[in-house]
Amino acid sequence: MTHIAPQPGIMDIALYEGGAAHVKGMSNVTKLSSNENPLGPSPKAVEAMQAAVSQMHRYPSSDHSFLRQAIADVYGLPMEQIICGAGSDEIITFLCQAYAGPGDEVLFTEHGFAMYRISALAAGATPVEVAERERVTDVDALLAGCTDRTRLLFIANPNNPTGTMIGMADLARLADGLPRGALLVLDGAYAEYVEGYDAGAALVASRDNVVMTRTFSKIYGLGGARVGWGYAAKPIIDVLNRVRGPFNLSSTALAGAEAAVRDTAYVEHCRHENAKWRGWMSEALAELGVPSDTSCANFILARFASDKEAGACDAFLQSRGLIVRRVTGYKLPSALRITVGDETSCKQLVSAVKAFKDGQA
Ligand SMILES: *Cc1c(COP(=O)(O)O)cnc(C)c1O
Repeated sequence: MTHIAPQPGIMDIALYEGGAAHVKGMSNVTKLSSNENPLGPSPKAVEAMQAAVSQMHRYPSSDHSFLRQAIADVYGLPMEQIICGAGSDEIITFLCQAYAGPGDEVLFTEHGFAMYRISALAAGATPVEVAERERVTDVDALLAGCTDRTRLLFIANPNNPTGTMIGMADLARLADGLPRGALLVLDGAYAEYVEGYDAGAALVASRDNVVMTRTFSKIYGLGGARVGWGYAAKPIIDVLNRVRGPFNLSSTALAGAEAAVRDTAYVEHCRHENAKWRGWMSEALAELGVPSDTSCANFILARFASDKEAGACDAFLQSRGLIVRRVTGYKLPSALRITVGDETSCKQLVSAVKAFKDGQA
């Protein structure tokens, strides 16, 4: 097959490793490895998806107008500046496909989300990783890392897997300091967990070089439905729509997301529960000698003394049916990323870490 070769860059892509969902030989596990909402989707979203199933012989909407209108209503944004994708991953793919190619650079941070590198390579562009400062996005380092070849710069705020975030003044400084021809992408996958944070929407409204991406996979509890969206200046949305497949979202996904976004009371409830158990779990772990940075998201990055201890704790947790995420691939080998679960699973997690620590002593 040597004469049939993929495009340059493709074979440099390391396959994405999702959070595990199973432990061998165990039927009852608690999955805290993929930052999913432990409370599930809004009951209204489930009902809407069930109703949509009976119409599966029909093609879905190709302009997503009902969903975009719902997003526009709830977030106070112009619907013609919104694009929907099969997860925000697809919006990231569209951005790389449309704006970066061979010879172009795509920047992201040291512990940044894996999809930025994958999408950059898939587009034939050059991924460029920029150092963080103590697990926090470093705006000066990012600006220093820009060249006249920089086309895209991705930051997740709050970031995954660190849980940390930077403030609005830093975001504005970053947007304003970029070279001409470079686009700042603010990935707001966890933005709903931060009270009063607009995920950079105001920056998008006042600039033509900022894009915001959002997802239904986290607080909305619809990771299985695959829905995300982006907000940007009209000319950018127009470009992205040209590479988007006309029927990229199923009718069930569209119906579920529309009902979910309109159920703002449910989102508020989820945000409140998450904050409560995130605080409880991080404090309890810190008391056991497992510190973490203050998290702004629905997970914490628990730091252990060494790679070895993190690996041993991970194995111990698995033996108790608790699945968390090793983040060695994110250059954090001595940490474990733990999704904030419901009350029961947070308590199980903490007592298992305690048993692990007691066993070491
Ligand atoms: C989970 C996550 C996403 C969401 O991806 P979807 O494709 O919308 O499921 C995007 N960015 C970051 C940083 C994430 O952690």
